Amino acid sequence: MFRKSKPAEFITVPKLVGKYKQVRVTFLGASFMKPADGKPARYADDDFALYIMDEVFKRQSILTRVKGIISKAHHCRKCDADLMGRKAHKRRFALDISYKEMPPFKLEIEMPAIPCRSCGTNNAVNESNTEIIICGAIAKAFESLKSKL
Ligand SMILES: [Zn+2]
Repeated sequence: MFRKSKPAEFITVPKLVGKYKQVRVTFLGASFMKPADGKPARYADDDFALYIMDEVFKRQSILTRVKGIISKAHHCRKCDADLMGRKAHKRRFALDISYKEMPPFKLEIEMPAIPCRSCGTNNAVNESNTEIIICGAIAKAFESLKSKL
């Protein structure tokens, strides 16, 4: 006979940190699913990681806008000003994320960024491998979940 498994319970982890190369991410108050059968906790579902990537790279994009194919020029994500010749400094970005019925949480991303001279917005430096490095840091944070529970 098929028995429906007990519903999973959600647990909130106050702080989850992941670091990869020059990027450090911190999840503050994110909720994870704790299966009733004693299996390790995991994030809500398979779309969760993808949703976070979309927040970071598309909906709340923190990265410089890159123009040009051969010689890449970085522009401000907010006012489009040219960021040429500006130095990058380590900056912290804070994103508010709400996913499905889970309680909203904060995602902080610390990485090199260029401040815009015109509007003051910080722009995370968008190199060809930046998205991979941010994903790597997020993956490390998820990995460290195992040791938190
Ligand atoms: Zn700007």
